[in-house]
Amino acid sequence: MRLEPAVMPPGVVLEHAPCEVCGADQPVPIAWRTDLFLGGTRVYTMNRCGGCGVVYQHPRPTAATIHWLYPEDTYPEYVSSLVTERPLRRLVRRYGLRKRAGIVRRHVAAGCLLDVGSSTGDFVWEMARCPGWSALGVDISPGVLRYARDTAGVAGVVATFQRAPFPDGSFAAITMWNVFEHLYDPRAIIAEVARLLQPGGVLVVTHPNLDSLDRRLFGHMWIGYELPRHLYLFPSDRLRALMAEYGLEEVERRCVYGSHAATMTSLMFLVERALGRNRLTGLIRGALFSLPARVLCAPYFVLIDRLRLGSNITAVFRR
Ligand SMILES: [Zn+2]
Repeated sequence: MRLEPAVMPPGVVLEHAPCEVCGADQPVPIAWRTDLFLGGTRVYTMNRCGGCGVVYQHPRPTAATIHWLYPEDTYPEYVSSLVTERPLRRLVRRYGLRKRAGIVRRHVAAGCLLDVGSSTGDFVWEMARCPGWSALGVDISPGVLRYARDTAGVAGVVATFQRAPFPDGSFAAITMWNVFEHLYDPRAIIAEVARLLQPGGVLVVTHPNLDSLDRRLFGHMWIGYELPRHLYLFPSDRLRALMAEYGLEEVERRCVYGSHAATMTSLMFLVERALGRNRLTGLIRGALFSLPARVLCAPYFVLIDRLRLGSNITAVFRR
């Protein structure tokens, strides 16, 4: 279900803020569009920082009003969970989750994992099933954590990541699957990761790939900009350097998952801009995201991922 443009988003207030990575106030607009998920006519802008090259939203939603952009009954990441999916979809989803768990386990054998922005709890559920692992989520949405607990028995804490009440060195692994770009103040986030990780522990971050082919193909309509929910996007070398400042060394970087969904979502933005939202575009959406389409397109996306040109890229940092 989606809300009609006229009623969304009612309470979002925008603010001017300098780049929180380098402190410069030199935004150079590179992409702008309306909220393509929730609708409305307000235009949001993504900028390149003239000081450090990071890409950031400016002006941006205030921390006090950004929750309007994550309605619990509408935001795509909040509306379904692995355990309530139909068997075939569940199988596909489980395959992706196992790939993610595999990344963590390749770098750390066992321990406690924190999934930041855990949403409906799918990854926490998957990870808690791995021998030697326990897992916990943190999310700002009480409703979605309640849902995760009730449907899948997944444990979670309602908090922003910086305010989550964990002692130093609590975790062997911290994961942020398409979450880092949604957060304010990247430096504070990374400092908190460094505090919470045990020595030798890893942070796994999947984030929009500024070098992706999709960014070039779709321009303003690229899913990676996801205005107005994405606040910071990092060129890979910039993120590597920033993490190193906090004692986190990059040990792996590759495209792992999500390329098909990302490309099809960007494509649907273009289709809906041209044809509107109606029965026909609903059918097109169904076809693009279907299992046969996934299978047919698989060779293309395998190649794109090998070349690190997928829409998302996953990096692993060791403390
Ligand atoms: Zn900057």
